[in-house]
Parts: sequence; structure tokens; C-alpha cells
Amino acid sequence: MREKILVADDELYVLDVCKRILENQYEVRIVHSGLEAIQLAADEHFDLLLTDIKMPGIDGLETAREIKKIHPDIMCITMTGFSTMETAIKALRLGVDEFVIKPFAPEELTLAIDRAFEKERLRQENIRLKSLMPLFEFNKLLMSSTDIDAILSQVVTLAMAELQATSATLYVVDDFGNFVRHQQRNISTAQLNIIEDRGLTIATEANETPQLVTQALPRDPEIKEILIALGFNAAVAVPIMGQGKLVGMMLLFKKQGQFSRSQLNFLGVLAGQAAVAYENAKLFSNLQQAYDQLKSLDHLKSEFINVAAHELRTPLAILMGYASVASEEVEGVQKDYMDSIVRNAIRLQHLIDDLLNMRYIESGEMSFVYELTNITDVVALAIDDMEMLARKKHINISMDMPPDIPEFYADAQRMELVLLNLIGNAIKFTPPSGKIHITCAIKDQHLQLSVADTGIGIPKAEYSKIFDRFYQIESSLNRHHEGIGLGLSIVKGIVESSGGKVWVDSAEGKGSTFTVALPMYTTRPKQ
Ligand code: ADP
Repeated sequence: MREKILVADDELYVLDVCKRILENQYEVRIVHSGLEAIQLAADEHFDLLLTDIKMPGIDGLETAREIKKIHPDIMCITMTGFSTMETAIKALRLGVDEFVIKPFAPEELTLAIDRAFEKERLRQENIRLKSLMPLFEFNKLLMSSTDIDAILSQVVTLAMAELQATSATLYVVDDFGNFVRHQQRNISTAQLNIIEDRGLTIATEANETPQLVTQALPRDPEIKEILIALGFNAAVAVPIMGQGKLVGMMLLFKKQGQFSRSQLNFLGVLAGQAAVAYENAKLFSNLQQAYDQLKSLDHLKSEFINVAAHELRTPLAILMGYASVASEEVEGVQKDYMDSIVRNAIRLQHLIDDLLNMRYIESGEMSFVYELTNITDVVALAIDDMEMLARKKHINISMDMPPDIPEFYADAQRMELVLLNLIGNAIKFTPPSGKIHITCAIKDQHLQLSVADTGIGIPKAEYSKIFDRFYQIESSLNRHHEGIGLGLSIVKGIVESSGGKVWVDSAEGKGSTFTVALPMYTTRPKQ
């Protein structure tokens, strides 16, 4: 974009020369008097004013002073036929940046303009560097906070301090696209109501160009009137754009003076950073909400399992009792029917037990009864319990336990449950005539119990997933095996709650080995 220069002189010849020298490089507007220059500058922004000092009516210095009130950043160069010390000092005091003495050669004029712009560039650079510090501090807050209110409040505080604003307000866009007031500083609700009626419409025009800062004054005379009536001299609106979408809007007001271009640049950068921080904080809060929701759903599910399992237990126990008695009293095909009822009732009971155990583990309610335990006895008992099931598939279960394993504190019943699950799975996933072998070793004061089978094996990618709740390698639609995928998660829950670990090693098509490592407590552990 080319810089805009406003040239004011009452001599037509000078205006013509300036225009010809400058128009190749700059956008040039010429006016014949100070009054015209002030009027034009009220509606249009210029980067540089090149003015004759001596003009009829409003002189050059007065013109420069008036225009600076509107555009504090404008550079001023005066042209004069003579330059007394007195006018030079007065000019400098008024913020004039350069002089050119008439008559001047074209290079003299372009040199003066180059110098002025270079000065302005350095000034801008200086301001930019200075504003890096508060932005840096602000960034530190952004990195460390996900609190939306704290971030937005800091944005407004920082913007007000750097722009020397008297009042401010910040809006966020809600889910329905409406502006909602979020911050309100040194401005009454009544004042805001008036501004919002007209002001926000102007502000939203800025949406079209992200990061664009709109100086409401002095462009729109209607707004100017409203603001002046409310005691403000300038207002600025900056959109807060997150990923190309309008997420908020900040309005800043000044009782005196205007916002300078460097201040507006700073505001643009701040708004960009605020948008990122706001989006991140919102994302975090949405995630937190989703997590809380999940947690309460999970709690609801646990409660449901608890109630359902307890309610099922009693009628099932009665049903099983009568079915067992009846099975003794009938014969032939009727006995087969009754046995089938009892068998399936037992399956149902195991399912209910699994659900309840899972819930106890999840809620941390599972209690352990630690007693001095002979682990070989526990293994033998578990094998005994599973013998019948294994025999039906012609599977042989054997164990090889060293004779000198010392007793240690463990919950024998829970350990048996762990073994029953592992042996049960080994039977389930081993084809007929296979083998299950249980061994034991002591390593680092831990007892390592392994249940190895010659079954279908487990792919490596599934090793950790099979310990998840309800996870089964076969999908439930084409399942050949019983179970609901809770066994291993219960094993893991029990083993880890008693300070141990469980893992699997397997070769697909050859078999799997599940190993449980248990701490060999020599004293009763505290719970
Ligand atoms: P369930 O046995 O009820 O399906 P588990 O949690 O006990 O649930 O086991 C989860 C899954 O791990 C099983 O569905 C099966 O795919 C796999 N699995 C467990 N034990 C073995 C094993 N010994 N051999 C092969 N796969 C197994």
C-alpha cells in the first residue's frame, strides 16, 4: 500500500511541483488552504502532511496542530521561504518533523520525506519492541491458565493500560451467535446500552477483515455524536477472531485524544493472541465438561449394575435351590431338563458375580482378607474346581510347584478367583486334547504364577486391550465362546489392588502364558 501525502499551499505553482515530484511514489492529495487540509484530514487518513507555513487564514503550524489532534501519528514537513529561529522552535514544539527551504530541488524534497518516514519507521519499531514486553507477560499467563474469565479479564486490563483507554467492554459470541457482555470497565450499563444500539453494528463491520481495527471516530458523525454525549472522544472496536470465526469483540474508549496507529497495531496483535487463548480455554472447558459428564454416566452405570446384580441374585438363588432339589427327585429326560436349568443358573450366577466384582474394583470397595497362605494349596484347589470342565474337552491340567515356597500374606479366596479366571480362559481358548500347565517361580520377593495353555494364542497388538473391561478379541457377533469380557479386567483389578502385576506372552496358534506376580508379604499389609 502506498503512503498518503497531503500537500497544503496557497501557491498553485508549488502544489503542482510537489505533485509532480511525489506522485510516482506516493498517493498525493493537494489543497489550497489550511482549512481545506483540516477538513480533508477529518475524513481521510494521511501518513504525511507537507504544508506551507505562511498561508492566508489558518497558517501551516496551526494546520499541523489541528490535524495532529485527529491523527496523532501523522508526520509533518513544513515548507518555508525563510526560517527564523523562532518559527523553527515553535514548529518543533508543535511536532513538526522536517523543514524544506523554498525554492527546493526535487531531491531536497524527497530526501526530507524519506527522512521523515524513516523517523516514523524507527518510532514504530521502538513502540513495537516496547509492546513486546507486556505481550510476553500476557503470553506467560496464557500458557499457564485455562481459566476463561481470568484470560479475558487480563486481555482487557492489558489493552486498557497499553492504549491508555478510559473505559472498556468485552463481548463473547455465544452458541447462538449473539454478543454477550463479559467484561465492563468504567462504563455504566446505561451508557453501554446506548452504544450497543448503534456502536456494535459499526464494530461488527470489522468482522470482514480479521484483525482489522476500526477507529469509530471521526468517520461516522452519528457515532461521534453519541460518544461525545456520553463523554468520550474516541472509540475503537477490535474483533476477536478464532479460526476465521468471530468469537468476541472488544471496545475501548478514550475521554481525551485519539488512539495512535501504534496503539491500534498493538491491539490487533493482542486480539489475535486473546483469540487463541480463548479458543484453547474454551476447548479445555468443553473437554472438562465432557469428562465430567462421562464420569457421572459411569457412576450411573455402576449404580445400575449394583442394583440389578443384587436384585437378580435373590430370585436366582431361590430358583437354583428348587431346581437342584427337583433334579434329585426326577429321572430320565426330565432330569436332563432340570440339570440344564441348574447349569445355566450357575452361569448366570457367575455373570452376576463378575459384574459385582468389577464394580467393587472400580469403586475401590473391594476388600481383601490377608492371611498366611500356602499358594500350592490355592492352585490345587483351583485345579480341582476346573477339573470337570477340562475333562469334558479332554484337556489335561498339570502343575509344577517347587516344594519350598514359603507361606506369605495373601487373600486366598481372591487368588483362587484369579486362578479360576485364568484357567477358565485357558480351557475356553484351547482346542480339545490340549494342555494347561501351571508353574511358579520366586523373583525379587515376588511370586510369579504362570498359567500356560496350548490354545489359539493372542496377537501381540491385543496384549494390553484384553485386560480392558468388556473387551474380547472375537466380536460378539461371531463368538464361539462364552463370557462377556470381564474376566481379565477382574484379574487385573484384583492383582493390582494387592500390589502385583499381570501380563501375557503368546504365540498365535501355539498357546498363551498368563503370569501373575504377587508381592510375598511377610507381615499383614495395611489397607
Ligand atoms: P471373556 O473370557 O469373558 O471373553 P476375558 O476378559 O476373560 O473375557 O478375556 C478377554 C479376551 O481375551 C477373550 O475374549 C479372548 O479373546 C482373550 N483371551 C483371554 N484368555 C485367553 C487365552 N488363554 N487364550 C486366547 N485368548 C484369550
